[in-house]
Amino acid sequence: MTCITCPIGCSLSIEREDGGSLVVTGNRCPRGAAYAREELLSPKRTVTATVRARTVVKAAEGGGGAELPRRVPCRTLSAFPRERVGELLSLLYGIELELPVERGKILVKDALGTGIDVIVTRSIA
Ligand code: SF4
Repeated sequence: MTCITCPIGCSLSIEREDGGSLVVTGNRCPRGAAYAREELLSPKRTVTATVRARTVVKAAEGGGGAELPRRVPCRTLSAFPRERVGELLSLLYGIELELPVERGKILVKDALGTGIDVIVTRSIA
């Protein structure tokens, strides 16, 4: 795998020893080994999404004058366990926010008991 921790992008090789421990080579610094181990053992990703706002706006030209729901962008404050991203998105897609909303507002505290908060990333009036 390629380490994406910094722009150098070292090519990493990972082998499992007889005792079960992982041996990482190809990394120029310790962060590469940590990245490889985390990717294999408990991969995480920053999750971005949008949630529905209660206010509706008229569609722009070409929208046929229909009313469209407004969406508010959000993201996790830190990397989130990849195997639970679907669960998190289901939670976020069920939320309806009152406007106005300020950037940085905590949308979901301790999402799914992971200790990771989800915040709003843009102020919308
Ligand atoms: S192993 Fe270190 S030097 Fe190489 S890409 Fe990862 S962080 Fe950068």
